[in-house]
Amino acid sequence: MMQRIPYARQNINQDDIQTVIQVLQSDFLTQGPAVERFEQAVAAYCGAKYAVAVNSATSGLHIACMAAGLGSGDILWTSPNTFVASANCGLYCGATADFVDIDPRTYNLSVAELAEKLNRSRQQGTLPKVVIPVDFSGQSCEMKSIRELAKEYGFTLIEDASHAIGGCYQDNKVGSCQFSDMTVLSFHPVKIITTAEGGMVLTNREDLYEKLLLLRSHGITRNPAKMVGDSHGPWYYQQVDLGFNYRLTDLQAALGCSQLQRIDEFVARRQVLAARYNQALSRLPLTIPYQHPDAYSAYHLYVIRLHTGKLRKTRRQIFEELVGAGINVNLHYIPVHTQPYYQRLGFKPGDFPRAEQYYQEAISLPMYFGLTDAMQDRVIQALQEAIQ
Ligand SMILES: *Cc1c(COP(=O)(O)O)cnc(C)c1O
Repeated sequence: MMQRIPYARQNINQDDIQTVIQVLQSDFLTQGPAVERFEQAVAAYCGAKYAVAVNSATSGLHIACMAAGLGSGDILWTSPNTFVASANCGLYCGATADFVDIDPRTYNLSVAELAEKLNRSRQQGTLPKVVIPVDFSGQSCEMKSIRELAKEYGFTLIEDASHAIGGCYQDNKVGSCQFSDMTVLSFHPVKIITTAEGGMVLTNREDLYEKLLLLRSHGITRNPAKMVGDSHGPWYYQQVDLGFNYRLTDLQAALGCSQLQRIDEFVARRQVLAARYNQALSRLPLTIPYQHPDAYSAYHLYVIRLHTGKLRKTRRQIFEELVGAGINVNLHYIPVHTQPYYQRLGFKPGDFPRAEQYYQEAISLPMYFGLTDAMQDRVIQALQEAIQ
């Protein structure tokens, strides 16, 4: 029996295991010194001033929206080509969500489409309070242009970089927040580095940082300077806002610190795998991932787009043949607005045609640090055979 090849997989080594064991033997299990170390290490790596670790990127997106002041009557925009969490975070806040169709080359939210939609919305009085561009597949969005639109139209810019830690945009690491108000990372096992479940919000703005800290932990402060009236004594805390328990544990943070030491190695291997795929697949009737000159991708995903008009088989047949050959390919993403829940909110197929067309043709091939050349060759051969 040949081993099945997943589309993504974490890589855990002895150092990772030892670090977690050390935390188990220490005084802190939940949020403690390891969380602080992890926050400082990620902030330093990405080049951001502040970092707030949370128990998932979904939680991070939620409190980032809250810190931006998003509430009922407000509007959030994101890409339809993302995981549902990028839009759900707006609904958690009582806001409405809307989408901006994708760029046909990068599959990221289209800047031209964004500019047009902002212009139309200004006339209609429906401008968004928050826009969440998603660095799809690990490739940064065109943040500089989006930043200019944020200034012109006054929205808060939250970058969903769940796919993209370890990547770069122009001269900066993704997560530097040079062009965003906040950047959210995910440490789910399929992502670039993992803490099992976990996420982080990065920012260079102290006001947002203070809000994020409160919202992560019940809206409670122990800092007398932030209290209403005087502190009653050393035991005293106050709830000054309505927050959540979105804390990361020290067990997870220690794993994250250990994983972070290998992040450049992880991304370098993903780049090599991408180059090998590009080389092997370039003459097949499919589109390989486009690389924007401003971006160095972390390659969370390697997505091919089949030229279905030139093939004898459907995308579904090819997908199923690959699974039959032991290759667990995947599909990113089902356009969020076509999900039944979003259709109940009023969206319908046809609303964002480029994301929908892309969805008809895309397949995510296996892409992860532990994918060997031999395994990748099996994927390539199976794909060549399926496409024949
Ligand atoms: C994985 C992912 C999330 C959610 O991450 P969790 O850490 O699982 O909550 C959000 N947005 C995007 C684009 C993702 O890929």
